[in-house]
Amino acid sequence: MAEQGRTIEIRVKRQDGPEAAPYWQTFRIPWKPQHNVISALMEIRTNPVTVEGKRVPAPTYESSCLEEVCGSCAMLINGKPRMACTALVEQLDQPVTLEPMTKFPVQRDLIVDRGRMFEALKRVQAWIPIDGTYDLGPGPRMSPELQQVRYSLDRCITCGLCLQACPQVSRGNDFVGPAALGQSLLMLLHPTGQINRDERLEALMGPGGVADCGNAQNCAEVCPKEIPLTHAIGDLGRQTTLKWLRDMFLR
Ligand code: SF4
Repeated sequence: MAEQGRTIEIRVKRQDGPEAAPYWQTFRIPWKPQHNVISALMEIRTNPVTVEGKRVPAPTYESSCLEEVCGSCAMLINGKPRMACTALVEQLDQPVTLEPMTKFPVQRDLIVDRGRMFEALKRVQAWIPIDGTYDLGPGPRMSPELQQVRYSLDRCITCGLCLQACPQVSRGNDFVGPAALGQSLLMLLHPTGQINRDERLEALMGPGGVADCGNAQNCAEVCPKEIPLTHAIGDLGRQTTLKWLRDMFLR
């Protein structure tokens, strides 16, 4: 229910296209205690008029599931990397500032291109190759303990918040980032994923691999799915070191 006279002020960093210069616009909407950032953006969309009274194109943003499952609405909210669907406006200082994540190229307004995350998954071979042309039979058995560990890694929604928070990730470098490291361990822990163990570890030992982690641990702080990223990075560091030693002795 809207409260008489009470409003919410939202400043949005806008950018008309990938090469355009950014600028700010401020909107004011009626207060509702239930608003999260996405529902507030939806409300702006119904009447996109700035506080100066100028009608403008509605700010663009991505969202889908509204329950921290699709990963699409990650952005900077009052300067912090967060999912917009679970950021309740009544818990935010006003004016609420919304900006696109800075570690990814801006497509338009709050929409960014997270392609580097998918490229990183390819580099570390975060999949199990099966060609689908023959019956694989039942999968390998896994202990409940291993299933639990893998499930905790498997919840990644590729939102990009961990890359945004990581001081080692920048627009110009090739660090694969925390999410791809977590997915690497997920695949290494799968009995069938062991088939590509060597190639995966070699990719992780190369430029932009696990050694580029600076141990800031910001990734685990911001991850909305509480993925044990620091544990994954530590485990991969151990596995890559053992492989390096083994390779040395086998030369
Ligand atoms: Fe998002 Fe967490 Fe996956 Fe990083 S590891 S992309 S923060 S869900």
